[in-house]
Amino acid sequence: MVGDRTDNLQSHIDDILDILSENTTKKIEREELEKEFQKFLEYGVPVDQAKQSLIKKYSGSSETKTPISHERILIVDLKPNISSVHMLGRVITITEKEITVRGEKRKIFYGILGDESGTIPFTAWADFAFGKGDVLEISNAYTREWQSTVQVNFGDRTTIQKTDSQKLSESNYEPKTYTLKELRTGLGSIDVTVKILDVTEREVTVEGKKKQVFSGIIADETGKAQYTAWHDFKLKEGYVIRIKGGYVKTWKGVPQLTFDEKATVEKLESDVISKDITTQKILLHELVEKGGALDVQIEGTIIEIREGSGLVSRCPECKRVLLDAACSTHGKVTGVPDFRVKIVLDDGTGTVNGLLGQEAIKELLGKTLDDWTKLAAKDTALVMMELYDHLFAHRVTLQGNALGDEFGTTIIVKKATRADLDVSKEAEKLREELGGFI
Ligand SMILES: [Zn+2]
Repeated sequence: MVGDRTDNLQSHIDDILDILSENTTKKIEREELEKEFQKFLEYGVPVDQAKQSLIKKYSGSSETKTPISHERILIVDLKPNISSVHMLGRVITITEKEITVRGEKRKIFYGILGDESGTIPFTAWADFAFGKGDVLEISNAYTREWQSTVQVNFGDRTTIQKTDSQKLSESNYEPKTYTLKELRTGLGSIDVTVKILDVTEREVTVEGKKKQVFSGIIADETGKAQYTAWHDFKLKEGYVIRIKGGYVKTWKGVPQLTFDEKATVEKLESDVISKDITTQKILLHELVEKGGALDVQIEGTIIEIREGSGLVSRCPECKRVLLDAACSTHGKVTGVPDFRVKIVLDDGTGTVNGLLGQEAIKELLGKTLDDWTKLAAKDTALVMMELYDHLFAHRVTLQGNALGDEFGTTIIVKKATRADLDVSKEAEKLREELGGFI
């Protein structure tokens, strides 16, 4: 059977290459084509459609670097700020809303669209006369990022046509299996098996109705994520459950699995997931690509100690750092002293910012807030010198939550250890052995 499928795949690739050779003089790598074709199939796009899409893509003008306008793009591949999106989508939800633009009342529509690869929020800035369940062929839509989530917008230039609903059959919404490490914005209809690390219940008001919401942290062997359940599935800390039919939102790059009464939740034997869930180790370029992640461990060299590091005074109410003894919200207050260090970490694959508080610094350098205060009393310049001497160009392992925004990714460090401690110990030993000659 496997042989059959491979042969089929090769003959489809041959077909595509044949057609392309008549339409374009561009050199097309078979391997690349194969990869893209397989991706379409993985998401359940019918073979003929996948072929058409690739033919359109590769026969497009070689001048354009982003051959997006006529090529169908899968929801999972949508990135922010694409100006000309051509896509196919089924309307999963749609809500009407009246807004006032420059004194004029206007109707807009927002909701969620889905295709074989996932779901995405949309906003229609005019009435395109479509409804729930319609399958739409959309041209010249555009994407934006809103609260770290990609959204698709339908504006003046956008054309939308209702199309044969068979083009995106509802069975395409069969949940697909993911690990928590793989979760990213826009994925819909997912199937995950996770352990619940904690549950917090709260009440919110949605459209005038009170609702119970359950949220917390889930984990599997690959990582951790936040979750929000809009239905009482009787979740308990320590339960291992399989959730079918959730979707992913992200906040500052941290994936958040959301599911409601439409999802199915099944309790499994607790040994399905290993007892000790370890912190996910991640390379910096992976982390930067994701934006952020919950509870990760990274290792790298400190290549910069940033301005703003050192002793600070915080507002007792909101913990914000005071400027000229005043909080921007609470005015003149008696500040609470604190110590923090802002760094840039590089591991050769990428860089992220790091924020280390008193505790993390104590772990790294053994000095307390008191020690730093005394040092600064002698001479404030000594603080920065000390930080440079013991942190700059040193290798460290950091653990914490990483948050991403337009300024990059920042890890809020909970645990810090020197990764090159042995090296410096060795050097010290050597120095002792040489009797202090060097
Ligand atoms: Zn304040």
